[in-house]
Amino acid sequence: MTEEMSTRKQVCDIGRRLYAKGFVAGSEGNISVRLSDNEVLCTPTLTCKGFVEPEDLCVVDLSGEQLSGSRRRTSEIGLHLEIYRGDAAATAVVHAHPPHATAFAVAREDIPSGILPEVEVFLGVVPRADYETPGGSDFAATIRPFVGTSNTVLLSNHGAVTWGPSLELAFWNTEVLDAYCRVLILARQLGNVERLPADKVRELLNLRPQMGLPADARQSGSGPLYVNYEFGRKAPPER
Ligand SMILES: [Zn+2]
Repeated sequence: MTEEMSTRKQVCDIGRRLYAKGFVAGSEGNISVRLSDNEVLCTPTLTCKGFVEPEDLCVVDLSGEQLSGSRRRTSEIGLHLEIYRGDAAATAVVHAHPPHATAFAVAREDIPSGILPEVEVFLGVVPRADYETPGGSDFAATIRPFVGTSNTVLLSNHGAVTWGPSLELAFWNTEVLDAYCRVLILARQLGNVERLPADKVRELLNLRPQMGLPADARQSGSGPLYVNYEFGRKAPPER
C-alpha cells in the first residue's frame, strides 16, 4: 500500500470514530492531513464522515484550489489551510461539533483552566474564536490569532477545531476536549468545581517540554494561570 493510500484509510477511520462518538451529525465536520509542502488531503463536502471511503477524498493546494478527487472539497477547507499556513508543525486538522464542547461555544462560556491534569498538559488554555458564517474567508480568519500558540480552539456558536503533528493526536485533542467539557458540565451540576493550586498547575505545565509539546504561554507569565475562574464555584453563603 502506498503511503498516501494508508493516509487516506486513516482519514476514513478517524471519520468513523468522530461519527461513532457523536461528534458529527449529518454531513458535519471535516478532516485533513498535509501530504506535502503544498498539498493537503481532505474530506469532501456533504458526506457523512462515518461512511467516507478512501476514493472520496480530495487533494487541494494551500490556496484551496482542488487538485484531484471526483467529489468537491469541504467548504470549510479555509479553516484547515489557515492552520497549515500558520503552523509548520501542524500535520493534521480535525473540525467537528462535539456536543459538550459546542455547548460551551453556544453559551459563549470560556473553558475554564487549572482543573484536570491531562487537559493542562495536552490542550492548555482553549481559546474561543469569534463567530462568523461558516465557509468564508472571514470564518477562517477567526482562528488566526490562535494558530502557532494553540492546538485546540472553540468556535463560537459552531464547534471546535483541533490539530497536531499527526492525525491521531489531532483527533485526541477533540476527544479530550469533549470529555473535559462533559466533566465540567456534570461537576457544575454537583455543585462545585475546585481548581488545582497554582504550584500544581505550574508542575503540569513543566511536563510539556518533556513530552515534546511546545511551551505553554502561561509558563512565561503571559496570560492568567486560570481562565474563567468563577466557573462552577459555589457562591459564598449568604449571611
Ligand atoms: Zn462546522
